Amino acid sequence: MRRLAALAGIALFPLAVSAAPAPAPTPTPDHHDRPPETVFRVQPLGNDVYALYGRGGNVGFFVGPDAVTVIDSQFKDVAPGIVSEIKKVTDKPIKFLINTHFHGDHVGGNEVFRNFAMIIAQDNVRTRMLASPETIKKEYPARLEKAKQAGNDAMAKFLQEQIEWANKVKVEEIAAPVLTYDSELRIHPGGGETIQIWHLPPAHTDGDSVVFFEKAKVLHMGDDFFNKVIPFIDVSGGGSAKGYLAALDKVIAKVPADAKIIPGHGEVTDLAGLRAFRQYIADVLDAAGKAKAAGKSKEDFVKDVDLPAYKDFGGYKDRFKDNAATAYDESR
Ligand SMILES: [Zn+2]
Repeated sequence: MRRLAALAGIALFPLAVSAAPAPAPTPTPDHHDRPPETVFRVQPLGNDVYALYGRGGNVGFFVGPDAVTVIDSQFKDVAPGIVSEIKKVTDKPIKFLINTHFHGDHVGGNEVFRNFAMIIAQDNVRTRMLASPETIKKEYPARLEKAKQAGNDAMAKFLQEQIEWANKVKVEEIAAPVLTYDSELRIHPGGGETIQIWHLPPAHTDGDSVVFFEKAKVLHMGDDFFNKVIPFIDVSGGGSAKGYLAALDKVIAKVPADAKIIPGHGEVTDLAGLRAFRQYIADVLDAAGKAKAAGKSKEDFVKDVDLPAYKDFGGYKDRFKDNAATAYDESR
């Protein structure tokens, strides 16, 4: 469930390529029957940068003088809708697609975008996407049994489809990034803009990129930032709770105070919003560290732990205890 699942991780479900842990699939099979305004919302952020909300990780895009650069592709079935929303803003061709990480709710639309765009990501994204069929075949059958036993039909169906996909896909057919980088990459799209792509310390996964539009002062955080939503920390995908702190500190030190910030999930916000999320991670780590130092077992800690200040965050019931367990494992 790592790869695919991971993608799915959040409120999402992975589709085509990666996997994530235990998020319940959201049943929205009839996307094509619904009007676009109930699926997509475009938010202009100035200087030709936009946030696009749909189903899956938030998309960002920049309209340059010659071409459009897009960040993340959500799912295969919504990707054509993403493209048509961008076409409403500009008739310039989509030339680049940046994947912030390998999860299916961020890369599932790659199969559509690869027909016209160069797909770019950190090295580990490609590695994990290409390895995903093997991972699914190894890990999903047990999850499927569990889902069936729990009567979780939507999850069982999703897992079944993933297993079928893994059994028939050829690795060379996977819509993985074709241009990968190690620590930093810059795109010079014209219009006075410079697009900075930074690989951060392992946080959500070990292949996380954040994207900063220098002129527009817009930062797309991918899943290194969940705004008012409890994050999924994909440990099997190389993620880490302590790594989140390191990653967030690094990026907070780099961007200007008036930056606009697109999170992987949740609404666009500012540096204060990003700091609030950092505080959540710090508070979980602090609670785990204190419990461990006091000799409390992991089981007892996870059972008892509660951070009421974050109860209104989306996914508190689903993922908070997982975050706490991860934080305990990483505490000394
Ligand atoms: Zn993710």
